[in-house]
Amino acid sequence: MKIAKEFRWEMGHRLKFHKGKCINLHGHSYKMMVEFTGDVDENGMVLDYYDVKEIVAPLVEELDHGFLVYENDTELQEMLKKLNSKHTVVKFESTAENLCKYFLEKIAERELPGNINKISVKVFETENTYAEEELIF
Ligand SMILES: [Zn+2]
Repeated sequence: MKIAKEFRWEMGHRLKFHKGKCINLHGHSYKMMVEFTGDVDENGMVLDYYDVKEIVAPLVEELDHGFLVYENDTELQEMLKKLNSKHTVVKFESTAENLCKYFLEKIAERELPGNINKISVKVFETENTYAEEELIF
């Protein structure tokens, strides 16, 4: 059985390596679908939606209305510091693919009930583009 919860946030970024428009500072209304697969427990639940929210919402809140900055992009870091604007520095280019891995790793760090055997994260950068990564255990 699989359960899923959707999360949304606004975030700015740029892809410094990009040959097209994505090299510019811009933002997206991100959407993420977090899915948990596993056996249903004695109460008829895979995982309480409340617990899903408690695990994922703080991760989303940390990024909401801020910039995600690759650690090598020192110019952007300096500018955001100067403007005293919310930003998070990460060790990866801020692509949807890497964001997927980022969230998946953070979620997997948490102690989950033994019935869960798969976590899947889909990050939508726009309404019609997404990246998906899953972890099976
Ligand atoms: Zn973008």
